[in-house]
Amino acid sequence: MSLIVQKFGGTSVGSIERIEQVADKVSRFRAEGHDVVVVVSAMSGETNRLIALAHQIQDRPVPREMDVLVSTGEQVTTALLSMALNKRGVKAKSYNGSQVRILTDDAHTKARIRDIDDERLHADLDKGYVVVVAGFQGVDEHGNITTLGRGGSDTTAVALAAALKADECQIYTDVDGVYTTDPRMVDGARRLDRITFEEMLEMASMGSKVLQIRAVEFAGKYNVPLRVLHSFEEGPGTLIALEDSSQMETPTIAGIAFNRDEAKLTVVGVPDMPGIAHRILGPIGEANIEVDVIVQNVEHDNTTDFTFTVSRGDLARAEEVLKKVAEDINAEEVRSDNKIAKVSIVGVGMRSHAGVASQAFAALAEVGINIQMITTSEIKISVIIEEKFLELAVRSLHSSFGLSKEPQNESPA
Ligand code: ADP
Ligand code: ASP
Ligand code: MG
Repeated sequence: MSLIVQKFGGTSVGSIERIEQVADKVSRFRAEGHDVVVVVSAMSGETNRLIALAHQIQDRPVPREMDVLVSTGEQVTTALLSMALNKRGVKAKSYNGSQVRILTDDAHTKARIRDIDDERLHADLDKGYVVVVAGFQGVDEHGNITTLGRGGSDTTAVALAAALKADECQIYTDVDGVYTTDPRMVDGARRLDRITFEEMLEMASMGSKVLQIRAVEFAGKYNVPLRVLHSFEEGPGTLIALEDSSQMETPTIAGIAFNRDEAKLTVVGVPDMPGIAHRILGPIGEANIEVDVIVQNVEHDNTTDFTFTVSRGDLARAEEVLKKVAEDINAEEVRSDNKIAKVSIVGVGMRSHAGVASQAFAALAEVGINIQMITTSEIKISVIIEEKFLELAVRSLHSSFGLSKEPQNESPA
């Protein structure tokens, strides 16, 4: 008998029919003798609906009130799933984040979990209850409701699994595992049997929303065995785990991630002198705007161009800040472009294989795609390109690295 944490995402609890199906699934695990903690998301579309309601009143509502609002979605599904379990003769109890006491910091709408009180959950499990916990939410030390950022129910599940020392954390969703790239974009994308925490973290950070970034961080830190599975189809799913040292050869590339949420700002004609990057990016940081890729051009006639990317939602504010900076440093002008996207290839095998970058650039050149910016880490290469070429870029890289179901051009490795 083992303790399993199971998380069901929005589409998996998107209707009463689906909630009943989830209840059947949970009941089967319970009947096999497992202790089960279930984490649920809000019904699909509900969080967006709530956010849209708020925006009918204010453009930028106070984050504390947003959290009170959006946390309600998950409370609905916990109660409905508990009822569905009770109907099947399975003892179940629902809790919201503050009742469990999922303690977070006070960063409303993007709070981080600090501590989980597992006493109440263990007491219920010992009495034979299935415990159903609302995902995505917690409470700060002053009793204010907080939420963990979009997709945060994944993090609730992994954090609970770590706190309860669960044997496995199962993330049930609308795909049957983690794929080489988003299967909604590339038909030939292939399910991976396993992927390392490190690779999954890069994939999630670079835009693969199949798991929330923090969930993967948590799983890696506490070595929680994590598996992504389809809610309603049987299958092995994808195991996210430490690197498998028994494998003789790791594939060079695990997958390709992409992100449309990118916008580019260029300060043109910046005087080339020490401290200039700080004078440009300092005020951006003070405005709480996160910067992603940065490129500074080679100096020409004592001036240079300084380019960086931010989230599209931050573009207008960043532009405002930069116009002031440009005046202060005597730069020529500020240009912006929000029709860009980022494509990243990820794989721990890159560490030991030279030539991955040149293969990627060749694949993009072959289909006539211009690379605007490049950034790399030990296990990742990202490029910024025009958004209209995104799909073509992902498909070309996917086939160039032999990731498709029926590999055409096997990577030379
Ligand atoms: P849930 O509501 O269950 O949390 P999400 O929509 O957050 O589900 O995550 C599942 C979706 O992630 C899939 O439908 C798929 O389109 C997308 N996705 C993006 N990249 C990948 C990938 N590499 N592998 C699998 N799914 C991916
Ligand atoms: N309901 C929240 C969202 O839509 C959290 C989640 O589903 O994980 O982002
Ligand atoms: Mg999700």
